[in-house]
Amino acid sequence: MSGKIDTTVEPPKNQAKDTTVGNYFVSNYPPFSFWQKEGVADFRAALERPPKPGTPLGLYLHIPFCRKRCHFCYFRVYTDKNAAAINGYIKAATQELELYRKYPFIGGRQVEFVYFGGGTPSYLSVDQLTQLTTEMKRTLPWDAVREVTFECEPGTLTQQKLKVIHEMGATRLSLGIENFDDHILEINGRAHRSREIERAYGYARELGFPQINIDLIAGMVEETEDNWKHCIKKTLELSPDSVTLYQMEVPYNTTIYKEMKAEGKLVAPVADWETKRRWVREAFESLEAADYEVGSAYTAVKDKSKTSFVYRDQLWAGADLLALGVASFGHINGTHYQNQHDFGPYVNDLLDGNLPVYRALTPGSDERLIREFILQLKLGVVSCQYFNEKFETDVLERFAEPLQQLKNWGFLSVDGDQIQLNRDGLIQVDRLLQEFFLPEHRNVRYA
Ligand code: SF4
Repeated sequence: MSGKIDTTVEPPKNQAKDTTVGNYFVSNYPPFSFWQKEGVADFRAALERPPKPGTPLGLYLHIPFCRKRCHFCYFRVYTDKNAAAINGYIKAATQELELYRKYPFIGGRQVEFVYFGGGTPSYLSVDQLTQLTTEMKRTLPWDAVREVTFECEPGTLTQQKLKVIHEMGATRLSLGIENFDDHILEINGRAHRSREIERAYGYARELGFPQINIDLIAGMVEETEDNWKHCIKKTLELSPDSVTLYQMEVPYNTTIYKEMKAEGKLVAPVADWETKRRWVREAFESLEAADYEVGSAYTAVKDKSKTSFVYRDQLWAGADLLALGVASFGHINGTHYQNQHDFGPYVNDLLDGNLPVYRALTPGSDERLIREFILQLKLGVVSCQYFNEKFETDVLERFAEPLQQLKNWGFLSVDGDQIQLNRDGLIQVDRLLQEFFLPEHRNVRYA
């Protein structure tokens, strides 16, 4: 590979102009559909082994409750659980952590990062949050924790709740704003409105969280050019520490797809991919003009020296992730696993004193290499030396074909040790990653 871009550009094979049904975002490898019940025995064996020296340990907890189900949502969420059910869930999750604590894979490690994802972690009440985090810290202390991320829906945040989230040690508050326009929020099924954004953001700033992140989605239903510009303008006015930009996708289990199916439509009622990519490109340019730096396919950061992404960077470099909660995805000692994906079986397993693991997969060494390589490609730059040292593999050789392909399309170059995506490649990286997959993993349903 040379650093020059080949000019014989052909379109990527899996290029669809319109937004049709299916997953775009690649969060793991091999695809989840290859994780099977039969793999759980290997997962149990992985728990019994001590950790590979130098492997960091992180904790993820899925809080599956939301005020409303957004029409584009494909996560496991519940909008009908009362306080008693939520208390039962908290008890189950803390019991789950307690069960894991005793296994050799912990190996005396301290937790380095914690992530509360959802669903809506900020849906929990002040008392529930206090009880949950006190219990978690009692079981596996947070003394060595470098980052605690907490996802929030603006309309669930009161000043008092934010104070508790701050006191429990959240370093990174991630606000799921998605859009600043009330009509667009409403038509996409979001529970919050713009006035709640301003209020929550103000409280959070006053409390002095080390990092506040804003999530936006390019291409929500009825998104227009003017609206997107307005969203970027509002974001710049708030001046968050980081901004995460997603491109609207329409997976199978979304309300949008159900409506498309009922009406016999193949194309989703959202902007096409070219438009969404342009919106993200323009947003990145506006953020760069305001001194933000683009740090990955999805993020722009105000001050790189103060803003880190421990969860992302550790995970993309093969850290162990002890994932708790219904439908959570984790990775321990070389084995991927997912928990029971329904509320009842998850809680019942724990009531019976069993780990609620539903399916697992132990990737081979080549699959582990592919996983790390494609995840790190989302940063826009990959170091060949890193892979040489960790996997004893020359990635320029191993991935010669797909790298050449991306080069031919005009998205990629190699400069010494570094494989680099240009901006065009970066903002469509997820659909390019399939080129690196093993043949049996391509064009499959991802979930
Ligand atoms: S708030 Fe997030 S997790 Fe909850 S329904 Fe909406 S998109 Fe899904």
